[in-house]
Amino acid sequence: MTIRHHLSEDLLLGHAAGNLPEAFALIVATHVSMCDECRARLMAYEVLGGAVLEQETAAMADDALARAMARIGGVAQAPRAVARAPKSVLPAPLLDYVGGDLEAVKWRTLGMGVRQAILPTSRRASARLLHIPAGQAVPDHGHRGRELTLVLQGAFRDATDRFGPGDVEIAGEELEHQPVAEPGVDCICLAVTDAPLRFTDLIPRLMQPFFRI
Ligand SMILES: [Zn+2]
Repeated sequence: MTIRHHLSEDLLLGHAAGNLPEAFALIVATHVSMCDECRARLMAYEVLGGAVLEQETAAMADDALARAMARIGGVAQAPRAVARAPKSVLPAPLLDYVGGDLEAVKWRTLGMGVRQAILPTSRRASARLLHIPAGQAVPDHGHRGRELTLVLQGAFRDATDRFGPGDVEIAGEELEHQPVAEPGVDCICLAVTDAPLRFTDLIPRLMQPFFRI
C-alpha cells in the first residue's frame, strides 16, 4: 500500500497529547495503524511529551521503579497475540468500534447507493463510515469546520487529487468538493467532522498539557 496523503503535524501532536475529540483520535489511530511513516512521527511526539512530563514528575514512592520494571517484565513475558484474524477491511482500531468487520456495520442509506454508519463517539466531533459504490459520486459539499476522510478500501478522486487505501484527505472550510469513487471496487471510508474553529490555534492549545501554560 503506497500512502501519499498523511496526517498533519497538529493532528499527530494532538493525539500524542491526548487532546483530540474521540472521533479524531479514532481516525488518527486508524491511519497510524496503516501507515509506518505517521506511526514513527507519532512515536517521536510521544517521546517528546514523555520527556517534558518526566521533568515535571514529583518524587515517587521508593519502590516505584521496581514495580514499573516488574510490570514491563510481565508484559514482555506474556504470550504474543495469536495470529490476526483473516484479512479484514477495517483496521484494528475500527474493528473495536464496530464490534466486527464490515458485516457488523449497521448501514443507513443516503441515496444514490451511498450508505453511511455513524460510529458512537463523544459529541465534540462525529465519525462515520461511508460506503460509496464504485463509479458513484458523492454530492458536492462544503465544510463547516474540518473534515478528514480516510480511505479503507477502493479509491476516490476529487478536484484536488486521488485518494487510495490509507490516504487521508484533510478538508477545511475553504474546500468545496465532489468526491467520486473510482470504478472497480466500492469505496469505503472513515470520515470525521467537527465544528468550525475547533482547530484554531491548535498547536499552542495542544502544547498546554505538556508545558502547563
Ligand atoms: Zn501517514
